[in-house]
Amino acid sequence: MPNGEPICSECPLQEICLAKKENLTDSIPVRKIKIKRKKESKIVFLLECEGKIAIRKRESKGLLANLYEFPNVDGILNEREIQNVLKRWDLVGKEISRVGEHRHIFSHVEWEMVGIKVLVEKENEMFIWASKEEILEKYAIPGAFSWFCEKL
Ligand code: SF4
Repeated sequence: MPNGEPICSECPLQEICLAKKENLTDSIPVRKIKIKRKKESKIVFLLECEGKIAIRKRESKGLLANLYEFPNVDGILNEREIQNVLKRWDLVGKEISRVGEHRHIFSHVEWEMVGIKVLVEKENEMFIWASKEEILEKYAIPGAFSWFCEKL
């Protein structure tokens, strides 16, 4: 009965079927509930200044709390919007290139991320600036962002 009531009277298993015996034919087998994951788009910035890369600590609550991440913003941004984000972070981009896309699946949410590499003129106060080696050894970068470590 893929999509309807079981027809027990015609079933060869009716004599031995526990679901029928216990009058549970409408609840056995239990159907799996499909979890619908929310999809979120993000732009992940690989900001580089003289060999140092910007990272920041995530908030102390919520998903990936207290871990480190590359600065990122929600949504899909065009070039002008990317420039506006850099301005907001007090950064001037000298060179901007796209490094690729990566999807990370959590239990209830799916991140679709686009990585953007930006060579910036000088560091800002807002982020931690560290070498690739320091980032890999010293900071806890969660799996969702580790794909981007290969692109540094
Ligand atoms: S519930 Fe049991 S008896 Fe009824 S159709 Fe399914 S297997 Fe057969």
